[in-house]
Amino acid sequence: MEKLEERVKIQLQTNVSVTVPKSDVYTIDEWKAEAIKRYGEDPRKWRFRCPKCKKQWSLEEYFEIKNRGNVSDGWQECCYCDWVSYGLLGTLGDGLIVTFPEGAPAQVFNFADAEKGVKSK
Ligand SMILES: [Zn+2]
Repeated sequence: MEKLEERVKIQLQTNVSVTVPKSDVYTIDEWKAEAIKRYGEDPRKWRFRCPKCKKQWSLEEYFEIKNRGNVSDGWQECCYCDWVSYGLLGTLGDGLIVTFPEGAPAQVFNFADAEKGVKSK
């Protein structure tokens, strides 16, 4: 039997509340460490995937495709469709929550090679 995972309720920047598995919630430092573990120190190589169209991109590709450069958008806005992780439907259960020392948590896309909604160990 699969163990039922503890879920936590998170109030997002957008004032919407979501209830997600505890393992989907990262502090910004944990999230960065996870990205580095998966893709290395260079943030341009960090990869994400869209929960809607399932396509993947690196931040480097994001900047090329979108031709603008706000780093935080690359993990919240799809390159290929108009999906955004901070929209009403969030990440469709395939995303992560990142918390910050100050301010409300953000809902972001999952890492491109992550199992759905599962923190790598
Ligand atoms: Zn997409």
